Amino acid sequence: MAYKYIDNYREQGARKKLVELLKVKGIEDEEVLKAIGKVPRHFFFDETFWNQAYRDIAFPIGEGQTISQPYTVAYQTQLLHIKKGDKVLEIGTGCGYQTCILLELGAKVYTIERQEKLYERTIQVLPRMGYKPEFFLGDGSKGIANQAPYDKIIVTAGAPTVPDVLLSQLNIGGILVIPVGDESTQKMVTVLKVGENDYEKIVLDTFRFVPLVGEKAW
Ligand code: SAM
Repeated sequence: MAYKYIDNYREQGARKKLVELLKVKGIEDEEVLKAIGKVPRHFFFDETFWNQAYRDIAFPIGEGQTISQPYTVAYQTQLLHIKKGDKVLEIGTGCGYQTCILLELGAKVYTIERQEKLYERTIQVLPRMGYKPEFFLGDGSKGIANQAPYDKIIVTAGAPTVPDVLLSQLNIGGILVIPVGDESTQKMVTVLKVGENDYEKIVLDTFRFVPLVGEKAW
């Protein structure tokens, strides 16, 4: 079945303006900006709300969850330093917008969502758009051990701490990007795995994510 939505001039124009706005806000990675310029974010919205799709805001996607703000997606993706062929674990598939950005950058993406309704919707929508990650349903706070190790791990929900189990699933030289804090705000944290038990952690800007709910989280 062909995907029912059309990427028309109005949406393409709005997407270009969004890319310009992200540059002004400090996103510098040209490949990330190119990916944002390519993925039709309005496909993740009901047609009634297409006029909201290229605003730099998070938006409800059902089940109490949100599609992340484009700035946040660009910010997290930039921190991952994706190289073509990188094996990336994404925790918190949601509607799959971030997944598409990672795929546009040439990553092989393993993505996990805990909410069955979102999972069921996203495994239908993404392949129709031509995006084919490996989908998983379950608690991503434990990672996905039987697919590890990963070059990069991105967590798109706020965690109380950095789960050790995620660090153990990274390759040496790998990067974890995860928002860490309380239920109201989180700091973006990157962890570079420099040796088997050796990590370099950097704490960056403040964000506001929905909670990471699971055995190694809230
Ligand atoms: N990545 C999405 C995007 O591109 O817009 C946004 C994801 S939304 C901000 C966070 C997602 O994390 C929600 O869909 C939520 O259900 C999911 N989530 C929360 N805890 C989780 C867990 N332990 N494992 C997997 N997914 C989880």
